[in-house]
Amino acid sequence: MATATSAAAGGGGEGAAASGGGDDKLRFELKKWNAVAFWSYNVQQDTCAICRNSIYEPSIENQASGVQDINIAWGACNHCFHLECVSRWLKQNDVCPLCQAPWEF
Ligand SMILES: [Zn+2]
Ligand SMILES: [Zn+2]
Repeated sequence: MATATSAAAGGGGEGAAASGGGDDKLRFELKKWNAVAFWSYNVQQDTCAICRNSIYEPSIENQASGVQDINIAWGACNHCFHLECVSRWLKQNDVCPLCQAPWEF
């Protein structure tokens, strides 16, 4: 009975392949986790350097037009700004307003 069950599970070869895939997935998830921790560690800003509003509140621009949406844009350098603020800035510049690193969306 026990032998039949393990054969039905796909045989030795397939079982080994599946556990290999599992390892890959685990490694990927750990990497993702580290990335998230890394990010939240590095983002210690809570204000938008452009409009000086909290990034947890709508930008000055949105507040002025009565929009309550909060759109946050992160640069490759881990600085974050309101999307409205940074996109206005990026019309004239293509670097981060804080550290001058090339801005990548
Ligand atoms: Zn802003
Ligand atoms: Zn920056």
